[in-house]
Amino acid sequence: MGQISQGLSERAEKVLVDGGNSASRGPRVFKPYPPYIARAEGCRLYDVDGESYIDWMNAFGALSTGHAHPVVVEAASRAVATGAHYAAAIPEEIEYAELIVDMVPVAEKVRFANSGTEACMAAIRLARGHTGRKKIVKFEGHYHGWADSLLLTTNPQPVTTLGHENSPVGIVDSSGIPQGAIEDTIVLPWNNIEVLERVFRDRGHEIACVATEGVMANIGVIHPKDGYLQRMQELCREYDALLYLDETVTGFRVAPGGCIEMYGLEPDIVTYGKAIGHGFPLAAICARAELMDGFGWGKVMHFGTFNAHRVGVTAGLAGTKTLAANGNAGFRHLTEIGQATVRGITEVVASQNRHQILCQSVGSLFQFYFTDLPEITDFRDYCAYADSAKFARFANHLRDFGVYISPSNTLHNCSTLGHSDQEVEVTVKAFAEALKTFE
Ligand code: PMP
Repeated sequence: MGQISQGLSERAEKVLVDGGNSASRGPRVFKPYPPYIARAEGCRLYDVDGESYIDWMNAFGALSTGHAHPVVVEAASRAVATGAHYAAAIPEEIEYAELIVDMVPVAEKVRFANSGTEACMAAIRLARGHTGRKKIVKFEGHYHGWADSLLLTTNPQPVTTLGHENSPVGIVDSSGIPQGAIEDTIVLPWNNIEVLERVFRDRGHEIACVATEGVMANIGVIHPKDGYLQRMQELCREYDALLYLDETVTGFRVAPGGCIEMYGLEPDIVTYGKAIGHGFPLAAICARAELMDGFGWGKVMHFGTFNAHRVGVTAGLAGTKTLAANGNAGFRHLTEIGQATVRGITEVVASQNRHQILCQSVGSLFQFYFTDLPEITDFRDYCAYADSAKFARFANHLRDFGVYISPSNTLHNCSTLGHSDQEVEVTVKAFAEALKTFE
C-alpha cells in the first residue's frame, strides 16, 4: 500500500474525527490506513498511489449502476451546468416520482429527501401523526439511520447484555440521546414472530408503526424467514398499526419493486435512499395518497432546502431508467452477478478446511461470515457466533489482492452494472489466493 495514502491518513487524523467522516470508513476500519481514492469507473476504484481495486462496497450500496455510468454522468453534468439546485418546482421531480409510482405498487405519492436517515425520521413522524399513537417497534440489528428514537441496538453486543428474547433491553448506541427520545421505542428480535405477536397482544393499540428492513442488511445479509414479514403485516392490520418498510438498502436494487415485490408485501409506508440517487444524496418516502397527504401543509411537518435536489433527482432518474430499460435487464444483471459471486466464493470455501466461512445473499446483496453456524438468522446469532475481528483482518488482507470490501462485517457487498462475469472470476480467484495466505 502506498505512501501517498499513508501521508494523507496522517493528515486526516489531525483534522477529521477518527480521521474520516463516518464510522465505517477511514483509518479506524481500513488498516493500516485507508487507500485514498482518486477516481472510479465501472466497478473499479483507483487510489492516489496508482493501485486499483474491484469495488464490492459501492458507496455502501448506493451505486447500482456502478461508478461514473455514462448515462448518470451525462444527466448530472447537464443538471450542474444549468444550475445545480433552485429549491423551486422542477419537471424532473415529477418525472422521477411518476417512475417510482409506476415501479412501486404501494406508492401513490412521493416525497423526496436527502438521506436514508431523514426519510426514516419523516416516516416515523408520519406514522405517529397519522395514527395518533406514540409507540414504534424496531428490531435488533436493524439500522434506520442515526436519529435519536431509532438508534437502539444497531451495534453488535455481547448477547448477555441484550436481555431475554421476550423482553429485550434496547441498547442506546450513542451518548447524547435523552431517555424521552427512546421511551416509546420497543426493541424486539427480528425473524421471531412469537415475540411480535406477544407484543401486539399486550400493547398493539399503542403501536403507531412497526419499522423493519425487508432483508436485514446491516448485519451482513440475513433474509426473512418464510412468512415472517407477511405475518408482521397481518398483525399491523389487525391492530391498526402501520407497517413501515425501510428499503434504503434493498430499494431499486434487489428487484424493481424491492422487497415489496420480492416478498409480496403491501407496507403502508416505504422509504428509499442509497441506490435511488445513483451516487447523489437522494431519498424518498412513499405511501398511498391518503397517508402521504399527512405531509400537507400544517399537518405532519417535513421541509428541506435540498429536498428533491436537482442534480440528485436528474441523475437518479437517469440511473433508475437505465436499470429498468429492456424489461428490467439491469436489475437481472445485478442479481446474476451477485449470485455468480456467491457461487464462486462458496466453491472456494468448500475447497479448503482451514476456515469456516458462511456466505449469505439476497439477489445482488451478499456477505460472508467467519462462523461455524450453518445459517445466521438474526442479530443474536451474529453477536454470538460471527468473528467480526477476523472478518476485518481478512477484508484488509483481501485489498492486497485487488478486491475492495468494507472491513465492517455488518455491512454488505453488492454488484453493479459495472461488474461483469470477468470481474466475478478475478474476484473469486483473489478470494481464493487471499484465503490461502490468511491465518
Ligand atoms: N436505513 C437503512 C436500512 C440503512 O441501511 C441506512 C444506511 N446504511 C439508513 C437507513 C440511513 O441512510 P443514510 O446513511 O443515507 O442516512
